[in-house]
Amino acid sequence: MYCYECGEKLALVLHNQEGLVPFCKNCNEYRFPQFATAVTIAATNRAKDKILLARHKGQQDFILFAGYVKKGETAEKTVTREFKEETKLNVVKYKYMSSRYNAVKNLLLLNFLIIAENGDVQPDYNEIEEVRWFTFDEALEIIRKDSDAEAFLKAAVAELKKGQ
Ligand SMILES: [Zn+2]
Repeated sequence: MYCYECGEKLALVLHNQEGLVPFCKNCNEYRFPQFATAVTIAATNRAKDKILLARHKGQQDFILFAGYVKKGETAEKTVTREFKEETKLNVVKYKYMSSRYNAVKNLLLLNFLIIAENGDVQPDYNEIEEVRWFTFDEALEIIRKDSDAEAFLKAAVAELKKGQ
């Protein structure tokens, strides 16, 4: 770990409230870890019996909708903005579910379960090749295995089945 201001090697120093925190002795500042934040979206219909998944260009797998949180934006805003951009549908209702940290991408993923408005999906063909509604079982079968998306989808389906 190196200081993102001066490049000095960071040492872990005891912070009186936060425990051991990376510290730059050159800047005399604590350097809390930095990472990107993204939302992932498990989308259901108003009847809450289907899941909408997307297949991106050049990809074989269907995945959840996702997007980076822009600087200054709330995660809730990212959810409604990204879903609208990628499907042209509005989000009727959303619920925060859980988060996972992806070390490869240095990315904190916040998962939301949303209800999409009724209507025709018009995918953003710049990014997405295909968007399709699946039954819960089909979605669980087709989602990329051992992925963050699979873990989020399992939790979303469990939540939706509770309400049936
Ligand atoms: Zn420094």
